[in-house]
Amino acid sequence: VSKSKVTVVGSGNWGSVAAKLIASNTLKLNSFHDEVRMWVFEETLQTGEKLTDVINKTNENVKYLPGIKLGKNVIADPDLDNAVKDANMLVFVTPHQFMEGICKRLVGKVRGDVEAISLIKGMEVKMEGPCMISNLISEQLGINCSVLMGANIANEIAVEKFSEATVGYRDNREIVEQWVKLFSTPYFMVTPVQDVEGVELCGTLKNVVAIAAGFVDGLEMGNNTKAAIMRIGLREMRAFSKLLFSSVRDSTFFESCGVADVITTCLGGRNRKVAEAFARNGGKRSFDDLEAEMLQGQKLQGVSTAREVYEVLSHRGWLELFPLFATVHEICVGRLPPSAIVEYSEKKPRLS
Ligand code: NAD
Ligand code: 13P
Repeated sequence: VSKSKVTVVGSGNWGSVAAKLIASNTLKLNSFHDEVRMWVFEETLQTGEKLTDVINKTNENVKYLPGIKLGKNVIADPDLDNAVKDANMLVFVTPHQFMEGICKRLVGKVRGDVEAISLIKGMEVKMEGPCMISNLISEQLGINCSVLMGANIANEIAVEKFSEATVGYRDNREIVEQWVKLFSTPYFMVTPVQDVEGVELCGTLKNVVAIAAGFVDGLEMGNNTKAAIMRIGLREMRAFSKLLFSSVRDSTFFESCGVADVITTCLGGRNRKVAEAFARNGGKRSFDDLEAEMLQGQKLQGVSTAREVYEVLSHRGWLELFPLFATVHEICVGRLPPSAIVEYSEKKPRLS
């Protein structure tokens, strides 16, 4: 039986941790080649060295995951075509805004028998409506794409603290078992769920809720307010997902990708952190500015996702149904002050 070859497309904070986790498994499991290729969006560090060279020399992503050894079998590759050409398992994990460009570059470059999985939390909005990232990958490259989402703050998984994750798949049991095998470790417990849209929408929408939670922190509103925002957010996540895809299951929101990811991101995520600073500054400094200063190259997904969700809501006449989602966007663009997040309760959502 031929062995599977894995390439990770992306090498940010989570991308690097995913490569490390996968590489620890490919060494142990006979059905995979040891080597894991990791595509790096090349950049020159302040020292004048190329990031890829430093990763291959030190076995560390010194910019996005400093202090963590990735495993000698992780090979950084700045050439996208070369990185994917032999792989039959592709793991996509870049900030979502870059995926459209990456997919365009990959057309005709991947193997015919390749299977993909997306760890990317986000979506694109097109003329025809919203397009989930796994769908973008599937459609542009003509390949099958599962998703892996969950309560997974990368820096905690990097030091092997226990967490859970959810793999969403469409119908192929054999393939999902391969993905579960590739990702499972004693500290990373993966559960398959046959609801790819539900799982991916959970991962995507919780970033908007995290922005709201950050505002509440910045306004020093306390724990009850934050819990209320998280609950209302989860309810809007479920309602929005089910309006977009009637197949989405209620039970998905009780998996790691649902309630658990809302909790961890609202407690310890980057979206929360930057939104807190935004509210503390009374909305006077832009998210772009704060992101660049506070995250040093890492990227927020929640602000652009709030805009994308808002576009869908306004196109479909659903704005009044989703006051939390709508308010987050209006605050992000400066149309409302951060305090509007808690005036939210004066608007009565008509959701059951
Ligand atoms: P990140 O936030 O660390 O982003 C930085 C990455 O973007 C770097 O690899 C950088 O080289 C790359 N980049 C910058 N400009 C680019 C361009 N023009 N084209 C392509 N790449 C470019 O990335 P991350 O943390 O790995 O996040 C990737 C995805 O994983 C996101 O959707 C995120 O929501 C999700 N995620 C992140 C975490 C986490 O804790 N970090 C956890 C779970 C899921
Ligand atoms: P942030 O991007 O807000 O850090 O969230 C990370 C995450 O998705 C945890 O599951």
